Amino acid sequence: MTIRLLHTTTINQIAAGEVVERPASAIKELVENSIDANAKRIDVKIRDGGRTFISVSDDGQGMSPDDLSLAIERHATSKLPNDNLENIKTLGFRGEALPSIGSVSRMTITSRLQDAHTAWMISIEGGKKVAPAPAALTKGTTIEVRDLFYATPARLKFLKTPKTENSHALDAIKRLAMAHPEIAFTVTDDKRTMLKLYQSQNDLLNSRLDRLDAIMSNDFASNALAIDAKREDLFLTGHIGLPTLNRGNASLQFLFVNGRPVKDKLLFGAVRGAYRDFLAHNRHPLLALFLEIPSESLDINVHPAKTEVRFRDPGLVRGLIVSALKNALAGAGHRASTTISNQALGAMQPEKGTFYHGGYQKKASYPVKQEYFKQQELSKKIQTPIDQLTDLELARSVKYVSEDEKEEISEDWPLGVARAQLHETYIVAQTVNGIVIVDQHAAHERLVYENMKKAINEGGIKRQVLLIPEIVELDQSAADRLTERSGQLNELGLVIEPFGPGAIIVRETPAMLGELNIRGIINDLADDLAESDEAIDLKDRLANVSATMACHGSIRAGRRLNGREMNALLRQMEVTPHSGQCNHGRPTYVELELKDIEKLFGRR
Ligand code: ADP
Ligand code: MG
Repeated sequence: MTIRLLHTTTINQIAAGEVVERPASAIKELVENSIDANAKRIDVKIRDGGRTFISVSDDGQGMSPDDLSLAIERHATSKLPNDNLENIKTLGFRGEALPSIGSVSRMTITSRLQDAHTAWMISIEGGKKVAPAPAALTKGTTIEVRDLFYATPARLKFLKTPKTENSHALDAIKRLAMAHPEIAFTVTDDKRTMLKLYQSQNDLLNSRLDRLDAIMSNDFASNALAIDAKREDLFLTGHIGLPTLNRGNASLQFLFVNGRPVKDKLLFGAVRGAYRDFLAHNRHPLLALFLEIPSESLDINVHPAKTEVRFRDPGLVRGLIVSALKNALAGAGHRASTTISNQALGAMQPEKGTFYHGGYQKKASYPVKQEYFKQQELSKKIQTPIDQLTDLELARSVKYVSEDEKEEISEDWPLGVARAQLHETYIVAQTVNGIVIVDQHAAHERLVYENMKKAINEGGIKRQVLLIPEIVELDQSAADRLTERSGQLNELGLVIEPFGPGAIIVRETPAMLGELNIRGIINDLADDLAESDEAIDLKDRLANVSATMACHGSIRAGRRLNGREMNALLRQMEVTPHSGQCNHGRPTYVELELKDIEKLFGRR
C-alpha cells in the first residue's frame, strides 16, 4: 500500500460532491458570488434544468485577469482578508465553489473590472484550465457552466427531471432574492421567463414586503403582519402571514440569518411553536424572517452548502422568535385573512347557465342533475309563503331573532348584531357596512380555549366531579403515557387515574366545558402525547392539550342558539384575542362588505 496525495482535480471533485449537489446548488453559489460582488442586477439562464447549460450574469465589481486565474484555485477567496472566520459578512468565504464547479463541468468566466479597458475570459474544463484571454463584456461578470457533472457520471444519474431541477433552482434563487430587494433578478429558460423581480426603491421593510409579495403571490402582502423585535443584541424583522393563510407544507417559509438563507431545524421549530395555538399540526403558515445576530454568536461554518448554522445561545434565539411571533399574532386580534372572504365571494358568483335555461345539459353529469332538482325544490320553497312552511322546514332553514331581541347596530361592534342562525351552525350578523357569517362551533372552540389558557394563568381551572366516573380502555402504552402526565392534566381540570391494565378512569373534568365526550378526549390526548416529543416545552404541550379538550367540549355545530346567546358569542369574540381563527387555523367568521354584495347583484 502506498499513500499519496490526490490530484487537485480529484480533490475538487470530492469537494464538488458536497458543494454542488445538483444544478440548483451550482446556481446558488454563482448567484451568491454576484451578490457578494455588489451586483444590482443578476440574470440567470437555465437549460434542461441546468444540466446542459447555466449562465449567471451580473453587473458587479468584476475581476482582473490575475483574479480570474486565482478564483478557480481551491481555497482562493477575496472574502477573508485576515483569515478571520469569526466575522464573516459575505455569503461566500470557503473559496470552494468555482474550482468545484469547474472540476465537474465545462465552465467559462468572463469578467471586467470597473475601469478596465477590456474584459477577460478564462475557461476550465473537467478541472483543466486555459489561461485568460481578452474578451467582450461591458460590465461585471458572466459565468457559463455547460454539461454539469459530465466528468462525474455517477452524480449525473441522480438528477431528476428538468422540471424538478428547474423548481429547485428557482427556489434557491428566490431565497436569495428575498434577502436582496435592492437587486433586480431575472430567470429564464429557453422558452420563457420563469422569474422577474424589479429592483425596489422603497425603504427596507416595504421593499422587502414588495419582494415577498412578488415571490409568494398568494396575497401575502395583504395578509401579512410586520415583525420587528429585539432581544439583547439579536434583531428579528420580517413578515408573517395570518394563520388563516396556510398551506399543507412549509415551502413558503423563508428564514435568514445575517442575510443568508438557512434551513435550520431550531428556527423552523420555533416558528411551529409560535403558531401552535393557531394551526393544526399539518398546516403551515407563510413567512419570511430575518435574524440579525452578531457574527461571534454564530457559526455558519457547519456544512459546505452553508445552509445550516449553529447558535451560541439557541434558547435566546428560540425565545425571541416565539415571543415576537406570538405578540404579532395577538395584535392581529380577530382579524382573519381577506383571501377567505374573497374566495367566498368568488364561490357565490352566479355561475352562468349551470342550472337555468337548460344550461345544465352543458355538464349533464349525475351530480349536476341532482343539483338541478335540488335547486327546483328550493325555488318552490322560496315561493311558498313562510307561514305555509312546516315548522320543521322553517327551523331547518332560518332561525329568526324575535323583534324584542333585536339590538341597535353599533360601530363599536365589529362583528355586528346577530340576526339569524342558519342550519344550526352559522350565525349571520349585520354590521355597519356588511354582513358577518360566524361558524359557531369554530368560534366557541376558540373562546373556550382562550378562557382555559386565561384560567390557567390566573391560578387554575375549576373542575366538576363526575357523578359516575368514566372508564376508558386504551392500549397499555397509551394508558401509561396519560398516567405519566396525570399531574399536568390535573392542572387543566382533568382528573384521571390508572384503572387496571390498559384502562384509565376519569373522575373530574373542567367545569367550563360542560358536558364532554370523555372517550373522544382521552383518545385524542393519548395520540397527541404520542406525537409530541420531549423537546417541546411544557407550556406548549399544555396549550396543545387544552386545545384538544376545548374541541370536544364546544358547542358542536347543530345546537340551536337564541338571539341573546348568539350576541353574547359575538361580543365575547370581539374581546378575545385570536378569535378570528379556530385552533386549527380555519377562520371562525367571514365578513362580506355591502359593496361586494352589491357587486354580486350587479348594483355596482
Ligand atoms: P468564495 O465565494 O467562497 O470566495 P468562490 O469559489 O465562490 O469562493 O469564488 C472565488 C472568488 O472569486 C471570490 O472570492 C471572488 O473574489 C471571485 N468571484 C467569484 N464570482 C465573482 C463575481 N460574480 N464577481 C466578482 N468576483 C467574483
Ligand atoms: Mg462563492
